[in-house]
Amino acid sequence: MSTINIAIDGYAGCGKSTLARDLAKALNFTFVDSGAMYRGLTHLVLHSETNMDDGGAISDLLKSNPSLEFADETNHLLLNGEDVEDSIRNDKRVANNVSTVAAIGVVRAYLKAVQQSLIEEKSVVMEGRDIGTVIMPNAELKLFVTADMEERVTRRFLQLQESGKELSRDEVRENLASRDHMDETRDIAPLKKADDAIVLDTTILNREEQLTAALGLYSDLSD
Ligand code: C5P
Repeated sequence: MSTINIAIDGYAGCGKSTLARDLAKALNFTFVDSGAMYRGLTHLVLHSETNMDDGGAISDLLKSNPSLEFADETNHLLLNGEDVEDSIRNDKRVANNVSTVAAIGVVRAYLKAVQQSLIEEKSVVMEGRDIGTVIMPNAELKLFVTADMEERVTRRFLQLQESGKELSRDEVRENLASRDHMDETRDIAPLKKADDAIVLDTTILNREEQLTAALGLYSDLSD
């Protein structure tokens, strides 16, 4: 059976995950949140007290072949079988260090192999920063999602509030901006719009409107 892949990239807090999840559900594709995997490895680095400036120590940590999977029902990230969803979403240390860990070459190589193994058999909607450029350069549809910074801050702020986290808007803005900067300026697989990606500005689109727009672009493929 032939598969179809959709790549969704963009800045932090643009709503990529929600859109990708909704799109995967609508099309009955597998949803892959690649950022969760980077967050999972960051959790592992922090909890194993590995020095993230020590390339050799990071390589050794990856030699243990940590498994990263998504639970069937909840889609929570399982790191070596353990549900680490709360930590990767709500631990400030993960949010503040993930872009440093994600800039490390061996980390990217490790997750590239994991992510590409997921597209061999199933149609997927995968979202992240380098999906259209590096992980799925042949994806049938590539979206590059954008939204104004203040709208992104509001969305992330509300999301964190819902899960009971007390972060100020300034803290949220600072985290989004510093991650974007690090993600755009790193040497390996920087955040970048693929030449053939379609820009989708979600600033004034609600969740349903975003899905409708993406489904419209998907159905244009067969025209
Ligand atoms: O998507 P999310 O905001 O959860 O991603 C967390 C971080 O993981 C990003 O800021 C980025 O540093 C890294 N990431 C990446 N490449 C991806 C997905 C995420 O470098 N494909």
